[in-house]
Amino acid sequence: MAFTQLDLDDEEIRNAMELRRRKVTDEQMRRFEGYIAEIFSAFGMDLNTPATRDTPRRFIRALYDVTEGYEGDPKLLTVFETECRGGPDCRLSQIIEGPIPFFALCEHHAFPFHGRAFVGYIAHEHIIGISKLTRLVRMYAKRFTVQERLGRQIADTLETLLNPHGVAVYLEAAHLCTQMRGVREAAPLTRTTFWRGEYDGNAALRSEFLKACGLPG
Ligand SMILES: [Zn+2]
Ligand SMILES: [Zn+2]
Repeated sequence: MAFTQLDLDDEEIRNAMELRRRKVTDEQMRRFEGYIAEIFSAFGMDLNTPATRDTPRRFIRALYDVTEGYEGDPKLLTVFETECRGGPDCRLSQIIEGPIPFFALCEHHAFPFHGRAFVGYIAHEHIIGISKLTRLVRMYAKRFTVQERLGRQIADTLETLLNPHGVAVYLEAAHLCTQMRGVREAAPLTRTTFWRGEYDGNAALRSEFLKACGLPG
């Protein structure tokens, strides 16, 4: 199978994947630790214990790590070539991956939302490695975002990368900003689906995809 290094026209999607190291200086990081120490302490944390002395530093580091999706993922820019089998076979043969666990931060509260993603597509002339689908989901999840945008970005990027006959994305997530504050008693999962191409007008295909995700089609 041949590798192809993509030369994408879509600037927005290309930019999302290209390596872009964030520039945060040591001096800034120390200042941020000070802000966090002030907040945590005012809200009740005792920072003068062996366990908590380094918590502001660890918190800022962890926050930096879980938002690394902004730095892109150049490994997503390679795809495999395949042959479109054409006709009904090409149109109906789905590649479905999941569950892909993900963790994101909601941009309204900066609290986590986390859950599972299922991604399906109907290949045309390009396919992508299974591990790449996980990378794709995580690149967009490890940001400040909302579930709706996360699903849309995964679907749009896959569509641009592979030019497939169709893309399906299903996301389900628990949102800690509502659950931890008791806004809702029984915390249901928020479910979103995104359909592109063939999936858009083909109920049987959508149903088949959802069944493969273990959901009632
Ligand atoms: Zn929120
Ligand atoms: Zn095709």
